[in-house]
Amino acid sequence: MSTPAHAPASPSPGPLSHIYGEVRDLPLAAPVAAVAVGQPFRQYICDACGYIYDEALGDVDSGLAAGTRFEDIPDDWYCPLCGVTKSDFELFEAPSIEALRAQASQHAPVWNAATRHQAGVVIVGGGRAGWQMAEALRAADAALPITLVSACAADVYDKPLLSIAMARQMAPDKLVKESGADAARRLNVRLLAHTDAVRICADTRTLRTTRGSLRYDHLVLAHGAQATLPAALPAALCWRINHLGAYQRLRAALGDSAKDVVIVGAGLIGSELANDLALGGHRVTLLDVAAQPLARWPTDEAGQPLLTAWEDLPILFKGGVQVSGVERIGTRYRVSTACGQRFAADQVIAATGLATAPRLAQSAGLAWNHGIAVDAASLRTSVERIHALGDCITINGQASRFIEPIARQARTVAAAICGQEPVPYQLKPAVVRVKTTTHPLTLH
Ligand code: FE
Repeated sequence: MSTPAHAPASPSPGPLSHIYGEVRDLPLAAPVAAVAVGQPFRQYICDACGYIYDEALGDVDSGLAAGTRFEDIPDDWYCPLCGVTKSDFELFEAPSIEALRAQASQHAPVWNAATRHQAGVVIVGGGRAGWQMAEALRAADAALPITLVSACAADVYDKPLLSIAMARQMAPDKLVKESGADAARRLNVRLLAHTDAVRICADTRTLRTTRGSLRYDHLVLAHGAQATLPAALPAALCWRINHLGAYQRLRAALGDSAKDVVIVGAGLIGSELANDLALGGHRVTLLDVAAQPLARWPTDEAGQPLLTAWEDLPILFKGGVQVSGVERIGTRYRVSTACGQRFAADQVIAATGLATAPRLAQSAGLAWNHGIAVDAASLRTSVERIHALGDCITINGQASRFIEPIARQARTVAAAICGQEPVPYQLKPAVVRVKTTTHPLTLH
């Protein structure tokens, strides 16, 4: 990208800690008058997740003041939602109403006499992977019948925001970018919301759901993973925050006053939630069997700097403890550990890992390896005409539960289903950005 002659010199790229070090001292949304000369502000879209960088707003959490021009962003800035770098962004121009109308009139109505005999593609899952799949298929074929089955309303939202929404003072209902119904209309998709996929009959190419059976020409499993619970944490007594609905209910339960929250599990999700709830004014006790938070990564890179950053926040980290039980005491809860400690809480959150529910895959006899085993390049499962992507899959036994790969996976699957030139999926090592805004970390 060329730099316009009137733009100021770019700040020299430095380590992220340097950028963040400055952020906290910046006034929020400080206008940068010098760069606004002449040109209107532009928007840039993240190719991986759809996050839009708006020059007018900047990205204050990352130290980019309102008015920061895209070309002035350091090269090591990364997408605050999915973690890809600046080079994965491109200029975004919102389509005009006229353009949208023209696009809509090009698309023949899908559910008509010509396509009625086609079963088309059935997608299971209304999260990011499911909708990315629908987008990629629709981009490849304007007339393909697509049905999306979702256990919830399938509203479109950015899941990474669930762990930074309080710090950003975002109301839970403002997290929905587009309702499931609107997304379905826009993409000409038949949406079966609040519908559970129960069983796959691969012989007859039928998916049985709680609202009847659906035939498919191709089936795509994009139903994600579920939060796992150790036996000591009964589901009725603790929250599992892996989707918007649960998050909205938690926020409602927390209400507007400061509460005591015990979070069990100090991995990525637990640490991000602890950080966000503390910034939101709640008192957090974070428990983990490991001695440090983020124990999957070297202590000096992850756990120790995080604990240092948390010194000024109401977060009490207790490492090396095994939770042995949770009881309800009146309107509150008591969390006990095997070593005899007790913690009182208004709410208890379990952040003890994710696992793919095996039932649907087992019903079709799909190969399984800690998740739905797919071919690394094609993302096909072991059964013909069934693909899978997103959090529910494993490649060589490894899950990758991050945002960035999903759009690329969807393009791979769409090309295969629509008979286009193959787009082999490239497995890349994950770079994890921990959205602990007091001390953002980049982990490899
Ligand atoms: Fe992104």
